[in-house]
Formats: sequence, C-alpha cells, structure tokens
Amino acid sequence: MIKTRFAPSPTGYLHIGGLRTALYSYLWAKKNNGQFLLRIEDTDLKRNSKLACDEIIKAFNWVGIENADEVYFQSKRFDIYKEYIQQLLDEDKAYYCYMSKNELEELRETQRQNKQRTKYNRKYRDYEGKIPSDVKPVVRIKAPIDSYIEFNDGIKGNMRLYTEDVLDDFIIARDDGTPTYNFVVAIDDALMGITDVIRGEDHLSNTSKQIVIYNALDFDIPNFFHIPMINNEAGKKLSKRDGAVNVMKYKEAGYLPEALLNFLVRLGWSHGDQELFSMQEMIELFNPNDINKSASAYNTSKLDWINSEYIKSLPENNLLELLKEFDLDLSSNKNKSLILELFKSRVNTLKEFSEEIHKLLNAPNSYNDESIKKHINEDSIKVLKSFIEFFNIERPNTLEDYETKFKEFLKTNDLKMGKVAPALRILLLGDHNSPSISSVLYILGTDEIIKRSEKFFTFMEN
Ligand code: GLU
Repeated sequence: MIKTRFAPSPTGYLHIGGLRTALYSYLWAKKNNGQFLLRIEDTDLKRNSKLACDEIIKAFNWVGIENADEVYFQSKRFDIYKEYIQQLLDEDKAYYCYMSKNELEELRETQRQNKQRTKYNRKYRDYEGKIPSDVKPVVRIKAPIDSYIEFNDGIKGNMRLYTEDVLDDFIIARDDGTPTYNFVVAIDDALMGITDVIRGEDHLSNTSKQIVIYNALDFDIPNFFHIPMINNEAGKKLSKRDGAVNVMKYKEAGYLPEALLNFLVRLGWSHGDQELFSMQEMIELFNPNDINKSASAYNTSKLDWINSEYIKSLPENNLLELLKEFDLDLSSNKNKSLILELFKSRVNTLKEFSEEIHKLLNAPNSYNDESIKKHINEDSIKVLKSFIEFFNIERPNTLEDYETKFKEFLKTNDLKMGKVAPALRILLLGDHNSPSISSVLYILGTDEIIKRSEKFFTFMEN
C-alpha cells in the first residue's frame, strides 16, 4: 500500500509551496487507494508556534485535504526516539562524543583554513582514551566511511553520493538528550510505514543522512521525489509579495479552495495542455514521476483565471452561501439569480464579486473622475435628464419592459446606445463599467434610479 505524508515544521504558516507538496502527496496516496498522513514536526521546541500549527490544520480543513489518521506531533514521540537512540548505542552503531564546543570549533577553523569541508573527525568513534568529565556528550551515528549513498529519486533520477563529500558522523541526540531533525524524520517515516516521500528539493541534502539512519536500523528505504521549487515570474525565489503567504490569505482574498488546488497541481506538473482538473481527475491523472524537473513560475493571472472558471461553474446556492462570508447576503433579494448571473463571468474572486454587487445595490458615494471626463458633458447631461423624465413617466415593470422602453427612448431621440449607456452607468453606479444596462435598470427600479439621478445632478451642479 502506498503511504505518503506531509510533514510541516510549525515555525511559520503553511504557504502555497507547502500546500503543493501536501497536495502531490495526497493525490498520490489517493490514486493508489493508499493513505496520506499529516505529521507536525515540532521538535524544535523554541521555534514552534501553536498559532502556526493551528493555522496549518485550519488550512488543511479549508482545502479539504483529509489525512487518514489522527495528526501526529513529533513533540509527543520523544520516548520512541530515545529508544532507538539507545538501540543504536547498544548495537555499537552510535557512540557518545565528548568533543567540547570549543574543540569542535577549532577543528572547523583548521579545516576552513586548509580549504577543506568542515566536518567532525570521528575522534570518539571507537575511542579508548580517557573520557573528559566536564563535557556532556552528544550521540553520533557511525556513518559509513569512504563509500557511496545511492538512491533513486523519482524526479531527479539516480543519485550516487560519496559519503566523504556529504556526511560525517552526524549528531542524532544533542547533549540534553533531545533527538535531531534528520534522525526523527527517518524514524517516523519508517515507523509510520511511509512508502513514498514527496518533498521540496531543499531537503535533498538531508536524504543521505536519513538513509544512513534507515540502514543502521534495517528499515526499508522509501521512494523519494524531490520537487523543484516554485519561483516568481521573474525566476527568483517566491517572496511574500509574490504570494508566498499563509494559505488562509487566499481564502480571505476570495479564492475557492478547489481553484487553488487546481492552480497548484499545474505548478510543476501537467497533463497535455489541460488546465482545469476536478479533484477526481487530479487523483486519476497525477503521477509524481511526471513532475517537471525544473522550477515552475507562479503566475497570479493564471490563478485568477482558474478561480473565475470555478466561480462560473458554482451552483447558485453555493455561491449565495460563499458570498455571505464576503459580507453579502442576497438570500432575500428577489432578483438574486439575475444579479449573480450578471456578475458571474465578470469577476475573478469572491471578494471582487461581493464588491461589484455592493456597488450595484448601494448608491455611489463618489464618481470616477476619468469616467466623468470621458463621458459627461452638457449634451450627455441633457440626454440623462430627458431619459430620467421618460422613465419617470413610463415606469416599466418587467426586465423585458425595461429593455423595450430603453430601446424606445434611444429610437425616439435618435441616439446610439454608446451615447447613453456609459453616462447612465456613471450616474447610477459611479463609473462607466457595468454589466447589461437594462438589467441594472431593472434591478434598481425606477424610484431608485430617480433617487440616484438627483444625487448625481446635484453633484454635477456643485
Ligand atoms: N519538516 C520539514 C519542513 O517543514 C519537511 C520534512 C520532510 O518533508 O521530510 O520543511
């Protein structure tokens, strides 16, 4: 059975790079009817934040990626790690190292001066001399000497690393007994039965150390997939400004979780030139062996486009519910279906959706300068005034009525749509963009149209 995991360190929020890694791991497990689990790597007690941890779990709930088991917390598993450290000591596969911090620093300094790679010199490996009484020891693993660590990475291909270049007898327990990062990752992946480790390529250098642990404990080595990073559009590391922010910020900005996941699956993986994937399709089609070998570029307009496609396909009831979270409750509005239809294909996010509808439902407090300069002059004011008079007398009722009367007005006054509609939009909504003008007129109704016109004419007179 394929078992994958996502293992964030809760030192910061979950951002989209992390969410993409989680998604890939999730899809691969689901595709194989396997399991996906969430493990919080909170062994660095000083740098952890409870808030970050809660936000990570909240983000998972929001996007709907569920994990098979309960959430694992490494901070609750210290006893397990201690047992394995003891086992390695008992089997003479690890040893106590009494090198003081100063001595270690001196060793490194000499290596640096000799232009060598800084590494521990195995002084206490098989040591038989006198043990210093004033140093609390760390525990170091006996790493293989002068050999190769080999593994196949599903994305990078065959890796063959010379131990003397990438390893030393690294520390597995600090002098206070707490286990180190690479040690606990290897122990957990093995004990939790993880078969496929999918993670960022920034972890590639940890893999050889983890393999040393696997081998020392006779654990099966999982398959590895190290995914290239996400860059910004300029090819640089993704920063906060580019979108490397808390995943929950995407919710606040009005993105749908399905759209965000769809966007992320395509950042680094493709299936022909298909852009839109339902969760079911992602599960069926995704394969980590097809992940791109080079970094991908984050692209906001792509995300906006995908989100707009998802918004368009949302059933009315879902849309009404979602808009409530953006301060818009249309449930008792008799024209709700028409209103939603009018804006559905004009917006990229739910936030924008709500803002646009608010602009329609509430009289404008200001009028766009540019629009006024372009479309308002003595002539257009005259046209607007006679239009309002005409509507005040005609008082249309149905949407069709509004359409017919509007056309009639244009015809009797020998006016083109382009002469009237932009100015009328400014009068009603504050700027010259809006969906179909007759629908806008119908939704507002004649009384509101007249009220808004009075406000506009007063504004223009001053
Ligand atoms: N805890 C690591 C991180 O947040 C991930 C470890 C792993 O995936 O092996 O970057």
